[in-house]
Amino acid sequence: MKPKNIECIIDAHTHLPTNPPKTPKTFLQELSRKGVNGAIILGIPAVKTLLETIDPKHVNKEHEKIKEFLSKYHSNINDFQPDILLMNALKMMTSYGRLCSFNPIGERYKVMAAADLSKDPESLARELEALVKRGFKGFKVISTIFMKHLDNKTVESVFEVAQSHNLPVIVHAGCDPGIWELPGYCKYGDPSRLYKILREHRDVTTIIAHIGSYSYLAPGVFLEETIELVRRFANVYVDTSAVPPQLVGIAAKHVPADKILFGSDYPVINNIELESFIFEVYKQLKNAGFSTREVNKVFWINALNIFGIRC
Ligand SMILES: [Zn+2]
Repeated sequence: MKPKNIECIIDAHTHLPTNPPKTPKTFLQELSRKGVNGAIILGIPAVKTLLETIDPKHVNKEHEKIKEFLSKYHSNINDFQPDILLMNALKMMTSYGRLCSFNPIGERYKVMAAADLSKDPESLARELEALVKRGFKGFKVISTIFMKHLDNKTVESVFEVAQSHNLPVIVHAGCDPGIWELPGYCKYGDPSRLYKILREHRDVTTIIAHIGSYSYLAPGVFLEETIELVRRFANVYVDTSAVPPQLVGIAAKHVPADKILFGSDYPVINNIELESFIFEVYKQLKNAGFSTREVNKVFWINALNIFGIRC
């Protein structure tokens, strides 16, 4: 069931689970049962081996820095012990598909390839070119899990390839589950580092995921930086995935309806049901003063314009 007056829902941010594995077909049926008519499916890079290079001593040191904050403000501090954070990081790496190949699964679904930022810029560009030939409709950049800032040369090469094929780039911004909740790792998700690349690639449609705000411990972490990018660049959009709906309401006071795409991060974030998330986001947008037309822009019209997905 959809909120009334919403004609269609395109979810601009989903992932295909691999653990337990789901076929694209069953995944899409599941989405459709929850009221979603079309979706962007994002790959997650396979970086298990990168994770093995992380020094647990550094994780301990970073954990020390927020220990006091945790004990003051969180009842479940055991969930943030260094070894648990490392384990959760590994779980995230292995639970979702990298999607280096796929079968076309209908017009209302498009698949974005995850950029492997561990490669040098030239080999990455070659790999992305090959993925475009295989039918991928854009790229996902997630710099946190590669421990790289967003002003890295490899990120630039993703934008170069996107520009030459007129494809969108979705950029993860904010922390990530596991060790990336710690400030020394979350910093890699700071979208203000994208400034130079955006200045030089003004025609690449760029979607800052999670409104730059994903964090369990500090939701809203890079909200301000993200709003600033949307203000400065006509080609920058945000998606609403994996943030508390209240933050969508706050963002809606600063970001115009044309620049917000509904996204959920389904099924990564499981503390709220997809159906309830849809309703909560709807309520927040209405409370922020969005008209019915504007709310429809967020839920599907913008996605139609950017990805060409029709309901
Ligand atoms: Zn995601």
